[in-house]
Amino acid sequence: MKAFEAVQYYFDQAAERLELEPAMRDMLLMANREVTVQVTIERDNGEPAAFVGYRVQHNNSRGPMKGGLRYHHEVNLDEVRSLASLMTWKTAVVNLPYGGAKGGIEVDPRTLSMREKEALTRAFVDKIQDIVGPDSDIPAPDMGTDYRVMSWFRNQWEKYHGFNPAVITGKPVEEYGAKGREEATGRGVGILTVKLIGRLGRKASDTRVAIQGFGNVGSHAAKFLHEAQFPIIAVSDVTGTYYNSEGLNIPDLLRHTMDHPHGQLDGYAHCEKLRAGALLELEDTDVLIPAAIGGVITAENVDRITAPIIIEGSNGPIFPLADKQLSDRGVTILPDILANAGGVTVSYFEWVQNRQHYRWSLDRVRRELELTLVEAFEKVWEISQQQKVSLRTAAFMIAIKRVRRATELSGGPS
Ligand code: NAP
Repeated sequence: MKAFEAVQYYFDQAAERLELEPAMRDMLLMANREVTVQVTIERDNGEPAAFVGYRVQHNNSRGPMKGGLRYHHEVNLDEVRSLASLMTWKTAVVNLPYGGAKGGIEVDPRTLSMREKEALTRAFVDKIQDIVGPDSDIPAPDMGTDYRVMSWFRNQWEKYHGFNPAVITGKPVEEYGAKGREEATGRGVGILTVKLIGRLGRKASDTRVAIQGFGNVGSHAAKFLHEAQFPIIAVSDVTGTYYNSEGLNIPDLLRHTMDHPHGQLDGYAHCEKLRAGALLELEDTDVLIPAAIGGVITAENVDRITAPIIIEGSNGPIFPLADKQLSDRGVTILPDILANAGGVTVSYFEWVQNRQHYRWSLDRVRRELELTLVEAFEKVWEISQQQKVSLRTAAFMIAIKRVRRATELSGGPS
């Protein structure tokens, strides 16, 4: 199954409950604009190299479009289209005044030197600078990109349009970035995990967590949940699964990755090491948090997933057939459009600060992040209970209703 088909399936589940008119369904599913560009650079050895870049702008009925920029060797148009659509539903479910977009370049960023990565980013901006901007489409970090990439992006865009740091979020704090943006997605995953297990009547110290992916989202989620007294029994990256049934020493693991040239877990010795895929199938996990790539839980491996609670830290980790089986088994799934919305929420705070030329304290960012996410969670939980639907369908129902209303009021995306 393709990634966009999966989003469409989840959308349709909610659209049916809402009895959405067929014309509105088509309008809300289709992207406003899809752009594919060739991005060329000179490699350090003097050879030319060409890459494919994408920007998909899904919907702007509720405000400027917002969505990350991914550098990964598996980036393709279908994936970017699915992620752009998810952004529309994500910003709507947490009620931010935004639409949804996504972009990416098909490249393994580890094969690039720092100079090549900067050149690639600037060349990509040259190709898309006229379709992004603080009032139209505001990119942010995602897999394989970070505050440095955001800084190059802003600098290159400003060469065409003049000073306006609100063109992109996730910037370095010293250069108009928001305090707390880097940790925001993982912290949001943590806040919502605490909220959900409270609703399910569980205690943190008796709830064993396994996290797939130890990048931006996975590592910050691990830190937050470790501090909240959850035993983190396993974490993984492409180098393997690192497991301790008593709970890993997360501060020690974080120190280890900081010293590693690629920020990986490779070489960490104070626990058992298993193959990377083993994390999903550990039998003593209570809360499984996929926080790496999409499509990791499918019809092929769903029978081996035994965790009773799944928090979708990554985008699109569960394909529909697997989702159905898990739901039939009574597994509680907190969907990506809510679970990982902490990043876009603090991106919104960054954009607001940039536009007001004002700075918020870290305390204020964290407080407002929690307020926004908890309010969204309560609404999703309430609709799920009232309508007897999954948390995913409830989240999509809320989001679709908001985008439909904006579309009806304004006459559709512009
Ligand atoms: P990241 O910093 O690039 O980290 C990705 C992590 O996933 C790395 O630890 C990577 O390991 C690991 N990984 C990749 N393939 C794997 C595999 N097959 N098995 C196990 N681990 C694997 O990316 P990120 O920003 O944390 O994003 C992770 C997910 O969260 C993505 O789906 C992204 O769309 C979503 N998300 C991110 C944000 C954000 O603010 N960053 C916001 C919302 C949603 P290696 O380092 O060994 O490659």
